Amino acid sequence: MRILVVEDEEKVAGFLAEGLREQAFAVDLATDGEEGIYRALNTAYDLILLDVMLPKRDGFSVLRALRQAGQTTRVMMLTARDAVADRVHGLNEGADDYLPKPFDFDELLARIAALLRRPPTAVAEELWCADLRLNRRTREVVRGDLPIEVSAKQFAVLEYLMLRKNEVVDRSQLAEHAWDEDLDPLSNVIDVTVHHLRSRIDKGHHVRLLHTVRGVGYVLREGKGT
Ligand code: CA
Repeated sequence: MRILVVEDEEKVAGFLAEGLREQAFAVDLATDGEEGIYRALNTAYDLILLDVMLPKRDGFSVLRALRQAGQTTRVMMLTARDAVADRVHGLNEGADDYLPKPFDFDELLARIAALLRRPPTAVAEELWCADLRLNRRTREVVRGDLPIEVSAKQFAVLEYLMLRKNEVVDRSQLAEHAWDEDLDPLSNVIDVTVHHLRSRIDKGHHVRLLHTVRGVGYVLREGKGT
């Protein structure tokens, strides 16, 4: 079993690595959030121990990036901040477990053993953008209280835009994730699909969510926008 430890405090990282290696785990270390994301996306770990307070990107941001990239590796968050809000936040972002520091090493080992017996986390079932909700299991799309009917293709486009919420997505990314290779690159089918999708989700709503970025692509943005 291979474990990634993302921890900036040398003493804690060293203690964890040493203890885990004694238990026959392979252990890699990352000392900031960006390195953590890089390693986690490039190596198949069985478990990630993720500190919350990290340089460059905090643990929540790392976790969000991993889950948004479809990474399902089990994640245990470690934090000195024993606040309920942190715990809830971490679990909402897709953490599998949460251990406040300082912790007892035997407890950590017991939790790791329990986590490794569980199947990896499913990617989030529900995606949100402001009051727009998409359920990946039931394939329902709801804005506010109103169910919205979308075609299979519109659903695929919306799902991808929601996973990349607040990021500009270009046509080639949409083509890659929502169409197969039969898509004629010269056709305007992507623009037409997005146009129809936009009228479904934004029509009649004061706040528009789906925006065109001229010459680049599209962005699903919550909050104010043009
Ligand atoms: Ca830290």
